[in-house]
Amino acid sequence: MTETFRLADAAVTMEPSGLSVTTFRDGGVVKAWPGDRQEDRARAVSLGYAQDVSQLTWQHLVAMSRDHEASHHLLAHWLGLDRSPTLHGVSRNRYWPHWHREEAAALALQAFALAAGVDLLAILRRTAG
Ligand SMILES: [Zn+2]
Repeated sequence: MTETFRLADAAVTMEPSGLSVTTFRDGGVVKAWPGDRQEDRARAVSLGYAQDVSQLTWQHLVAMSRDHEASHHLLAHWLGLDRSPTLHGVSRNRYWPHWHREEAAALALQAFALAAGVDLLAILRRTAG
């Protein structure tokens, strides 16, 4: 099932394939596809999606990707921003100078939520219109 979440300046569509597409009001688009490289698998284990790489499935990688996009959007919303400066920068090919700070916060949020048993997509669903 394809779901679309709207938060302020962004609409986020999550497709059954695992693709997430953020579209900003100004037309900027960011596509996020679950990574399946060695570094993506290592990140999934370090964030807590599986105990080790041998247990990791495509669904874990999809969940990591979706949670990550949700984290960017929820953090921006909670901070009172109209949009994620990092994702918006990516959509315009103009990287926000502090993107690494938002990236670290998004990764930390998703690891925290996972450890605490909090479903970030459910939070996004409740928060978004
Ligand atoms: Zn990110």
